[in-house]
Amino acid sequence: MRVGVFGGTFDPPHIGHQILAEEAAAQLNLDQVLWVLTPYPPHKTTLRITHTDDRMSMVLLAIAGNAKFSLSRVDIDRPPPHYAADTVQLLREKSPRDEFIYLMGADSLNDLPTWHEPKRFTSLCQGLGVMGRPGEGSDLSTVVIEIPGIREKITFLDTPLIEISGTDIRNRVALGKPVRYFLPENIFHYILNHKLYYPQDKPSK
Ligand code: ATP
Repeated sequence: MRVGVFGGTFDPPHIGHQILAEEAAAQLNLDQVLWVLTPYPPHKTTLRITHTDDRMSMVLLAIAGNAKFSLSRVDIDRPPPHYAADTVQLLREKSPRDEFIYLMGADSLNDLPTWHEPKRFTSLCQGLGVMGRPGEGSDLSTVVIEIPGIREKITFLDTPLIEISGTDIRNRVALGKPVRYFLPENIFHYILNHKLYYPQDKPSK
């Protein structure tokens, strides 16, 4: 099987994530896309992140009805730090015959040299599927210096640029701005019903 590994904070999952995952499945001929929820993202330690249970419920809503999508508990079920290199290694150990293609936005690709053991991460992935993101160039020259051999692993997906991020959605909700069509409808209602992202938000981890 060719498996897409889609790691993220998903706070909240939004239509940018859904479009990326769906396009990756089609363009990279994937049999499955694992949405790997990262409970404690190593590069977001200073951010206030919504409780894992809420983010997991929202990921389940985002993937509902798509036979190729599933939630992976590989990071949920292990203690932090949740480094992506270890995530991919664990997935490979569990399913040695599968091929793992890591999916990410261009912002993540540009940040990759700052990730934990980026060379090990890249060598463990059999491919990288990258989706463009507004304001994020895809000039690989710096990344290639830090991670030789990465170029051959990358496929740039042909997708529209989507100017939506979790940060933007959280800020908009806090300011009372509309977000309804940034999100799948069920997640929009989840955020309303659970009063996520409002200034009086319930305590989060
Ligand atoms: P935040 O603003 O909280 O950092 P985010 O929207 O970037 O959140 P993450 O859950 O951190 O979402 O993202 C998971 C992956 O999806 C990352 O690789 C990120 O680059 C990618 N991604 C998220 N939104 C987009 C988008 N609009 N276009 C392209 N890639 C995206």
